[in-house]
Amino acid sequence: MTAHQLILKQRAELLAVLCGGGSAEPLDCVLDLLLACEVLVWEDYLSIGVVEKPLLSNVRQLLDVVYDKGEDACSLLLAAMNQVLPEEQKAGLCFGKECAVLGKNRPDTATLTLLADRPVLVRKLRDNIDGALNALLTTGCFTIKDCDAVQLPVYTPSQQVRRLLDQVRFKGETAAKTLLQYLEQTETTRPNPEDKENHLSANCLLYQKKLRSSVAAQSHSLSTYGGTGRFSLDDIYTDGLLEVMDGSGETLTLGLEDVVGPLGTLNEDADTVLVSGEAGSGKSTLLQRLHLLWAREALLTNTFLLFPFSCRKLNSEHRELSLKELLFLHCCWPDRGQDEVFQFILDHPNLALFTFDGLDEFKQGFTDEERHCCPTKQVPIPILLFNLLQGTLMKGVMKVATSRPQAVGPSLKHYLRKEVLLKGFSPGGIDCYVKKHHSDPAMAKRVIESLQANTVLLSLCHIPVFCWIVTKCHQELLGGQDVIPQTITDVYLLVLQHFFQRKSPQPQGVLGKAWLEEHLDTVLKLGQLALEGLEASCYVFSGYELQRNGLTEQDVSLGFLIYCNDLSVTDCKHYEFLHITLQCFFAALYVVLNRNSDRSTVSRLFQPQYRQLSGLSQRCLGHCIDSSVEEVESHVTETPNLQITAQFVSGLLSQRHHNLLLECCPIAVRERKVKQVVKSLSKGMQRHFKSIPRPVEGEKKSMHAMPSFVWLIKCIYEMQDNSIAQDTMAKLDVEHLKLTYCNIGPVECTALGYVLKYLRNPVGLQLDNNSVGDVGAEQLLPCLHICHSLYLRNNNISDEGIRKLLEKGMKCESFQKIALFNNNLTDACTQHFALLLKSKQNFLSLRLGNNNITSQGAEQLAEGLSYNQSLQFLGLWGNKIGDRGAEALAAALKNSTTLIWLSLVDNGVGSAGACALAKLISQSKTMEQLWLNKNCISREGVECLIEALKMNSSVKEVWLRGNNLSPEEEEELSKQESRLTF
Ligand code: ADP
Repeated sequence: MTAHQLILKQRAELLAVLCGGGSAEPLDCVLDLLLACEVLVWEDYLSIGVVEKPLLSNVRQLLDVVYDKGEDACSLLLAAMNQVLPEEQKAGLCFGKECAVLGKNRPDTATLTLLADRPVLVRKLRDNIDGALNALLTTGCFTIKDCDAVQLPVYTPSQQVRRLLDQVRFKGETAAKTLLQYLEQTETTRPNPEDKENHLSANCLLYQKKLRSSVAAQSHSLSTYGGTGRFSLDDIYTDGLLEVMDGSGETLTLGLEDVVGPLGTLNEDADTVLVSGEAGSGKSTLLQRLHLLWAREALLTNTFLLFPFSCRKLNSEHRELSLKELLFLHCCWPDRGQDEVFQFILDHPNLALFTFDGLDEFKQGFTDEERHCCPTKQVPIPILLFNLLQGTLMKGVMKVATSRPQAVGPSLKHYLRKEVLLKGFSPGGIDCYVKKHHSDPAMAKRVIESLQANTVLLSLCHIPVFCWIVTKCHQELLGGQDVIPQTITDVYLLVLQHFFQRKSPQPQGVLGKAWLEEHLDTVLKLGQLALEGLEASCYVFSGYELQRNGLTEQDVSLGFLIYCNDLSVTDCKHYEFLHITLQCFFAALYVVLNRNSDRSTVSRLFQPQYRQLSGLSQRCLGHCIDSSVEEVESHVTETPNLQITAQFVSGLLSQRHHNLLLECCPIAVRERKVKQVVKSLSKGMQRHFKSIPRPVEGEKKSMHAMPSFVWLIKCIYEMQDNSIAQDTMAKLDVEHLKLTYCNIGPVECTALGYVLKYLRNPVGLQLDNNSVGDVGAEQLLPCLHICHSLYLRNNNISDEGIRKLLEKGMKCESFQKIALFNNNLTDACTQHFALLLKSKQNFLSLRLGNNNITSQGAEQLAEGLSYNQSLQFLGLWGNKIGDRGAEALAAALKNSTTLIWLSLVDNGVGSAGACALAKLISQSKTMEQLWLNKNCISREGVECLIEALKMNSSVKEVWLRGNNLSPEEEEELSKQESRLTF
């Protein structure tokens, strides 16, 4: 067969092998060879190797061009492929008779030499691109722009060489001569590669050691424990709940080691992992733990170098930096071989990891408008950061960034490999944390018991920062306060009191009733700094700014502000609040206690679009305000903090703290502010209510909550004023309230329970896909009487949570439906459902899919069902009830006069179960649908069902897909009964 025919006949196979791995390298190597032996001319090459076109169409183009060039060209193409492809890919392919792919004559110009030697040059220059570019740059053949274009990190080193060669050809004969001269020189002076390797790794190893010890020193202790010297991170670190959603929408639980691992990856091309969670959920601490474990070689062992960055601190960097400067200035500087170390990072991106803590605190919102890919060019920090996150710069380096969820817009999401949600502590985590905090087990026990007795406080402890405060202030808590903490404002007042107490000159640090008034001056100074900082997205303050606000060393020594020692960018001292939530709390104190505040301060705080800078903040925190940052962008950072501040303002203005504030703020001023808050909350809610669309005919009037709805509810809760909650809720008139995927945890449930109990008419409350948990479920009890339906799919609820929920539910007349798909329920909860079914003869729908209920649980459920005459829908999809369970349920439901829909999909039900269900069919007058897909029912079972269906006219469909039947049996049986679906 001729080469021509071989190409035609094997076209599909040749296409497949040249595109197989998705890499353009085999095609490029073939092109190099064909250029060298002049089968292709330059114009052909340009038309084939177009980067923007898909690989497949480039290969097609190559086959077409060569085919048209005749028999010789075809045989050289086959020979080139034979040379380039690995043996395993050549199996089954025929390349014709042997022929060598060689250049015909020795070329007489430098440009042609480069072409003839192209395949060899690509190999030779691969490890030496920098040197070659340097030679071209210093001789003026190349500009910096040319170098940048060659070294785009999206290209592999071989592709970079090819671009270099192309560019040299384009520049002409002088450039080609320069390159050849450079190659000649390096041939003669090339050091022994082994020496180079050893030398390089010695410097890199030295740097790794330095970086490890610097990272270990920075991550060794927690800032909130700073100064006390009592705890190292090892002593106190408690695992938080980490979740990720996989491609099919399923939630997976992750361990710390999985954050960087492949689990939950949605976008293979991206290399930024985002860890998102609310303020105080432990994002920084999690990163700190990762850093520490890496430094000790206990985790991320494949990561050679880890570079930790804090976005808060990057805000203070106003210089333009290159990537190299960013790494070395902000992390640590190599003592030896800086260029080598940097080159090592560039050459081995897969061995480096960058972390960026607090992306939400970065002053500029993410944009991907300006592309930058040169590692040596100096650019403003935002450009550097955003291009790293996108992967335009340093493609292949894994990045982990943390942020609050609100700050992550769709443009950034586009570049994420996966988004990991940090949901704070589990109930077990809270216990574990308290035990770690209190070395005295008796004390730990007392604290845990006091939390169990105050479930509102317990629900707050799911957020680690609140757990820290509650545990820290245990003496105040156990000692009995006037006000039992119920709100986050209560908790933060506790910590305020605790810190003042610590420094109190009085014996045993007892504080008088008027403690706030006594410290008003300090509180106002800190408050002003905090508020101005928030307004300007500024979280780090210089000593000069502190001075300007009148803060003395004594004020600082109280401990609310801590010294940030790793701000290596500048020499002067910098401070930050212990935690961002504490900055928000001080800002709120300032809003409430400052007598001279602008009248509009309160109402502006409650408007989502609030972002005007006060004159003061512009004056004092000038350095924080970057004129290049557009207001719209900075708004992204401010909103969540201002929302937390507004929540604290609501709490501080609550009647509960009237006495504390009495002497600090004139009553009239306070009253005015209370009115403003109430009005703002009411207006905010009105905005939501107005957004409710008119119901479509036949559908329920439904409201899908917008993000700030939960925030407003939390503000109302902080006020702890029944009449305010009542007045606001009286105006909400919906039948269905949808709050799916809203980050609702136990804290939010407390607020929802408190506020929604004032709804006038029963609603369906849909809380699917949140993190309600058992503690959250208990917090919902106050509003259960007003819920006709409760949807809690995928919420980490276990038997204990259900026990409490049903205990109350049984007594609620309106409560008629519950959906608990995908929780942690076992047979231990079915007795409670049985009791509910027995005692509530208006209960309509019970959905328990994807839990761990076995035949035993089904038997218990059956016990309740046999007494029930109201249930219409029963869903047990994805449990393990087996034949025994199906038999028990069928027997119990035989006398039901209400059941319409039953699902036992994927439950290990066999023919025995099917025959029992057949009896149910033969007796039921109401059942319309029976779902039995994905079971192990065989022909015998289906025949029973067919017999029963002959006597039944109500059943419309019986689903039997994925059972033990052959396609022929399925066809035959469906002919016997058209209501069966296989
Ligand atoms: P975020 O970055 O989400 O705002 P942080 O990591 O700063 O939250 O956590 C605030 C405080 O909560 C920490 O300073 C620490 O006291 C406590 N904390 C958070 N996560 C943990 C944890 N996993 N183990 C122990 N304490 C934690």
